[in-house]
Amino acid sequence: MAEKEKKNIGTCAYCGQTRVIETLGDFTQKELDRMATERCLCQGAQEEKRKKARKAKINEFIRKKFPHEKLAGEMLELIDAVEDDTFEEVTVKLYKDKIVKIWKDSDNFLHIRIKRTEDDELKA
Ligand SMILES: [Zn+2]
Repeated sequence: MAEKEKKNIGTCAYCGQTRVIETLGDFTQKELDRMATERCLCQGAQEEKRKKARKAKINEFIRKKFPHEKLAGEMLELIDAVEDDTFEEVTVKLYKDKIVKIWKDSDNFLHIRIKRTEDDELKA
């Protein structure tokens, strides 16, 4: 037996606009409000969407570059600290030949640069 769609009302957290949300099963008001916010086109909701997308992009980059879970976590914390302006810029020296620099430019874009300080060289 298919569950019947329920009509609920959710409220955008930014502009207060309400909208009908159709769901299967029960959701808390908090969840419905989050869904309404995600679907809203107001400036605040769009800004949050952009922030989330940015966060996901940063997360993906870091997880790819630092497969070691603990190190990835540390890097993400440093990135947060640059994002919220706790630090203006962070430079971390890793594995003696790798340097990670994190900073924000004047347009508020976050930069993460991973630089190797030693060339790969073989003499045989
Ligand atoms: Zn809104």
